[in-house]
Amino acid sequence: MKFGGTSVADAPCIARVVDILEQHHKQGDELAVVVSAQRGVTDQLIEIATKLPESKDASAIEPLIQSLRTRHMTTLKGAAPDYINEVGPIIEERLRDLHNILHAVHNLRELTPRSKDYILSYGERLLAPIIGAALEERGIPSVVLDGCEAGIVTTPQHGESTALPDCDERVRRRLGAVLKNSVPVIMGFMGCTTTGIVTTLGRSGSDYSASIIGAGIDANEIWIWTDVDGIMTSDPRVINDARVMPELSYLEVMELSFFGAKVMHPRSIEPAMRKNILVRVKNTFNPSHPGTTIVRNQKRDDRVVKALTYIERVASVNINGAQMIGRPGVARAIFSALADREVNVMMISQGSSEANISLIIDESHLPVATEALAPLVKQGIVREVIENRNVAAVAVIGSGMVGAPGTGGRIFTALGREGINVMMISQGSCEANISFVVRQEDGPRAVRVLHDEFRLSEASDE
Ligand code: ASP
Ligand code: MG
Repeated sequence: MKFGGTSVADAPCIARVVDILEQHHKQGDELAVVVSAQRGVTDQLIEIATKLPESKDASAIEPLIQSLRTRHMTTLKGAAPDYINEVGPIIEERLRDLHNILHAVHNLRELTPRSKDYILSYGERLLAPIIGAALEERGIPSVVLDGCEAGIVTTPQHGESTALPDCDERVRRRLGAVLKNSVPVIMGFMGCTTTGIVTTLGRSGSDYSASIIGAGIDANEIWIWTDVDGIMTSDPRVINDARVMPELSYLEVMELSFFGAKVMHPRSIEPAMRKNILVRVKNTFNPSHPGTTIVRNQKRDDRVVKALTYIERVASVNINGAQMIGRPGVARAIFSALADREVNVMMISQGSSEANISLIIDESHLPVATEALAPLVKQGIVREVIENRNVAAVAVIGSGMVGAPGTGGRIFTALGREGINVMMISQGSCEANISFVVRQEDGPRAVRVLHDEFRLSEASDE
């Protein structure tokens, strides 16, 4: 079971978490717990770490340490009053370490990816011992472990590292015996390289930690506890009658998370899928709601389209030129230029005339992408690069679209009826996702039209 930042935001929240764990513990379930940092703490750490190399003095450090101290000590007092003398000094020691490394960053005027990951891991380091103590306070024996101690070894790709294949073996070795007589409380979001250097798994990485741990211990189920009732058919800020989907397939959730829906860390489905472990997304604040169940093949719902995502902060890049026709290596030149500058490409489309390649990227990457592609125009590899910020991307997702003729027709007929102009279309060969691009001002309406067309606000016959 993984509990996110909102679920552990303060002592009353933690009391709810412990209620949930206690109930399962009493039923005789073996439990492993993964926790993230308290809500907002990772953001605070990112802010200070990135600011320090440029600040003229180190005066921001003390107030941050003080606010983390107040928050965590208050949480500890509320969640595990009998453990103040035991856990208080642990928190103090970690704050001292954090204080020292932040000063080092300022003195060196340098934040390496490695030191950044180490600093970011402190949100989880400060919180996990409090959860452990809160369990003990209720008479549930617990062992607190950092990601590395729990067996999460990763690639050295700081900030976005990926679990190595031998995690399964390591996690089983580290946790197998522990599980029999206590509840391990594992710091999410972090792991380490094979040589023990701390890494982080990317934002929202504790979902991924939970899945890695679940796969390692061959869990029956992996539960992601969050602050909403489950994964929704669309963003409720855009679609007011968006609904929680009772069941989704691994593939659908992957498509949703790759395509920007803030449902789960994008790599977190993979370990569960590999071991075919059922994943549940549930609300800590409404635990009796069944939530969303994620499985290999969903049975209860036979609708073809299950969910829609809407991404506003994107830009399109259209690369044109008759000289691109029939010339091998143009795509390579484009994509390696972008990859060298770490521009992430979200959508690609090339017509069979080959005279045009269109890309969708995160809007924040646009200036860098422009710089990266300029040399291709100079060298005559392409004629022109045209950018457009006034676009929004929509992804239509459902495993039921695989091999089902007519869904594309329905999507574009519905949009056409509403007079919405589609600027770009892309469908991967997995067929579980049809994505398209419209003018930004048409985005919310496009989502609305399709949400209605596929009746996503109505429960299916289950
Ligand atoms: N604390 C980390 C973050 O805020 C990881 C997580 O919340 O899952 O991104
Ligand atoms: Mg989080």
